[in-house]
Amino acid sequence: MSVINVIEPATERILESLEQTAPSDLDAMVTRASSAQRKWASETPQTRAQVLLAIATEIDRNLEEIAHLEARNVGMPINDARGAVAGAAATFRYYAAAPERLLGQTIPVAGGVDMTFREPIGVVGLITPWNYPLTIAAWKVAPALATGNAVVLKPSEMTPLSALRLRDLAVAAGLPEDLFHVVLGPGSTLGRQLVDHPTIGKIAFTGSTAVGKEIARRAADGIKRVTLELGGKSAALVFADADLDAAAQGLAGAVFGNSGQDCCARSRVFVQRPALDLFLEKLQDVVDNLRVGDPLAESTQMGPLISAGHAMTVADYVEAAPVLFRGSAPSGDGYWFPPTVLYPIEDDHRAAREEIFGPVVAILPFDDEQEAITRANDTVYGLAGSIWTSDAARSLRVARGLTAGALAVNSYSSVRVTTPFGGFKQSGLGRELGPDAVDAYTEVKNVFFNTSPNA
Ligand code: NAD
Repeated sequence: MSVINVIEPATERILESLEQTAPSDLDAMVTRASSAQRKWASETPQTRAQVLLAIATEIDRNLEEIAHLEARNVGMPINDARGAVAGAAATFRYYAAAPERLLGQTIPVAGGVDMTFREPIGVVGLITPWNYPLTIAAWKVAPALATGNAVVLKPSEMTPLSALRLRDLAVAAGLPEDLFHVVLGPGSTLGRQLVDHPTIGKIAFTGSTAVGKEIARRAADGIKRVTLELGGKSAALVFADADLDAAAQGLAGAVFGNSGQDCCARSRVFVQRPALDLFLEKLQDVVDNLRVGDPLAESTQMGPLISAGHAMTVADYVEAAPVLFRGSAPSGDGYWFPPTVLYPIEDDHRAAREEIFGPVVAILPFDDEQEAITRANDTVYGLAGSIWTSDAARSLRVARGLTAGALAVNSYSSVRVTTPFGGFKQSGLGRELGPDAVDAYTEVKNVFFNTSPNA
């Protein structure tokens, strides 16, 4: 029996030791999920809707407990963790409306009536990363179940606790237990088994671009459906006419939120040259005042990084880069890293091109609008981005010019349950959230009905 030790990043202590799922157990779960799925898909839409609503209620009822679990396992500040749990409940509530709105079309054809149906895919494999474990699990589990699928969820081996809790709550809320399995273990073994499993019809993956590429290649063998939410190196464009206080303040969330371990982190900030000095002054103020420490303390704004290995990776990027200023971080136990601002730095510097996934931001001055768009787009990624300006026409021009999937004007917001989320280029394939997720977990079936009198 292999054991997974789940570590608390703020203390480096073992939070829990869990048994890894054996390959034969995964097989058995998929078989049971497949038969449970057929029954689930034949339930009335109202029944499925009620179960999803009940799951949302259970999550809300246990908000404080789950938030503590997530804060301790991820190192996420407790107030952010509360937001994540409330967001997970909102996701189930939103998709509770989906079963009764799985609308098809009637299409004019010769000789009869033609209609389409949205059918579930079957058993779907869900693979999630460690940075927002509950949030991302909810983005996948809720629409998949709502549309009549069964799910097998493989959370990151570093942060499996909230996924296990979510599954317990879903069953307590009335979900048939074989519709939702959680498997525990490394991606290199269990993740691959899930991707290769012949009964799994789709893989919905969130994680690194490197693993996403491998999953796309392996899924090709079975023409398996895939949704990929991958890495990013998103840009913020701060024009000289912007509200610089708001842009600098917003960066606290956009780059230092979740210790920068955020796929949408705006880790490249292009600042129009006349505003550069003032912006840097305001940013220094933000960094100086950022409260980094115990994730369970109410006042904490930034916690530790996820692991010792990841802290070394982030340090390696910073060691070879020009640091203009940095904030403070606790010393002693925990994988701490201070918020760090890099300047002056060239666009092609490794720290300005690659996803660091830590609280590190590169400041890059620019002169004019077209130059800023071109340089912001000069990346293999295309996940998110922000445009800070008081000129409305410019904000729309720039938004249309940027090759990224989730943009915000005068805001760092990237994600809402009701709107599509996903990346251009190597940041992903397909969209999650909003109505798009319903399409992502269903197949279109077309039926022609012969109405000719001689039929
Ligand atoms: P990762 O790719 O290392 O792992 C993600 C998940 O995939 C984990 O559950 C892991 O066990 C599993 N896995 C690893 N190798 C696998 C394989 N060969 N086959 C199948 N599964 C495998 O990513 P991570 O380090 O956990 O997360 C950080 C990355 O996730 C960053 O690149 C970040 O940008 C990305 N991310 C993207 C989004 C998004 O929505 N676009 C959101 C959050 C995180």
